[in-house]
Amino acid sequence: MTGLDEFAAEKLGALDARNLRRRLATTEMLDERHATRDGRRLVVFCSNDYLNLSQNPTVKARAADAMEKYGVGSGASRLVTGNHPLFAALEQRLANLKQADDCVVFGSGYLANLGIVPTLVGPEDLILADALSHACLLAGTQLSGAASHLFRHNDLSHLGELLSRHRAQHRHCLILTDGVFSMDGDLAPVAELAELAAAHNAWLMTDDAHGIGVLGEGRGSSFVTGAKVDVPLQMGTLSKAIGSYGGYLCASQPVIDLIKTRARTLIYSTGLPPATVAASLAALDLIEADPEFCAEPVRKARRFTDMLGLPPAQSPIVPVIIGDAAETLAASQGLADAGYLVTAIRPPTVPDGTARLRITFTAAHTDADVAGLAEAVRGYVPDSDAQMKKTA
Ligand SMILES: *Cc1c(COP(=O)(O)O)cnc(C)c1O
Repeated sequence: MTGLDEFAAEKLGALDARNLRRRLATTEMLDERHATRDGRRLVVFCSNDYLNLSQNPTVKARAADAMEKYGVGSGASRLVTGNHPLFAALEQRLANLKQADDCVVFGSGYLANLGIVPTLVGPEDLILADALSHACLLAGTQLSGAASHLFRHNDLSHLGELLSRHRAQHRHCLILTDGVFSMDGDLAPVAELAELAAAHNAWLMTDDAHGIGVLGEGRGSSFVTGAKVDVPLQMGTLSKAIGSYGGYLCASQPVIDLIKTRARTLIYSTGLPPATVAASLAALDLIEADPEFCAEPVRKARRFTDMLGLPPAQSPIVPVIIGDAAETLAASQGLADAGYLVTAIRPPTVPDGTARLRITFTAAHTDADVAGLAEAVRGYVPDSDAQMKKTA
């Protein structure tokens, strides 16, 4: 073994010892809700394809047409020759959906956050981020060189304290949060955050990866109460409920124009393939036409939490926190034996001691799927025995 191999092997050994090594498992989607993994056919309950649009025949046909018309790849950065005509159409649609002036589409959600944050703030500035913000918001924060602090999850008074203590020493201040928290499924208090940001002359940015398509009639977490909350930076991904791939930012005209000329992950990375952009456009047609369809994933999640006496689901994501990584892996294995695919989520994706089953619901799940999963999960819900004794 070379020194390099020894280094890698030692790292892997340490992860194995703590049940924290991650492995890729080949997973083949068979239809909207079933996949095969390790030779088994399972009902999938951990995909982010909340509206099953990655498998939708209309979406697939639109993608195929775009590939025929424009080719397989975009060939270059959007600033060179990669800006095929579908981009402008998609950006206009997203801006309309989010009620923003304009929009810019990136190669992925991760790339979007790595590009947006350092374009807007630098070493003289301040970033205050929710402690459970997605990894790529925190990566963008690091890349920006701004002074940064985490506020306790959804804790407005902690954020207020940090603003009072630090805001005045910095030129600009950016507040970052997920709109829907990816591993917990709860919502950020977007209206209150917007008020606090405005009061301290700070800019609010929400990452709505898990909100677009499924909350607020498909418009996302700024629209859950009906009227739009004024969030100046609405970021999100096209890779979850939209069923395709790519990231976006919806914002004012000057902000979008600045991002287009300065964001390094937009400038120095190849534009998305035409078929991918066409698929997002087709998905938005379906989403805008049918608010009932958009509400289905949350309705299914709610039915599940009702069945198990868990706090009512606010999004399509329901965590069952087990705590120990090895026990969580065993629970995931047990669910696979019962016919359900729910992967175990372990640190560092979630805080130490909070390994969990992250269960997600999609429009295509049947009532029988949901009821069957609830029965299979019941034994893994902490304190479920105690709860049952109490209600008996
Ligand atoms: C998935 C996710 C991203 C990354 O988006 P991709 O398009 O998959 O790169 C960003 N933020 C949040 C909150 C996410 O859940």
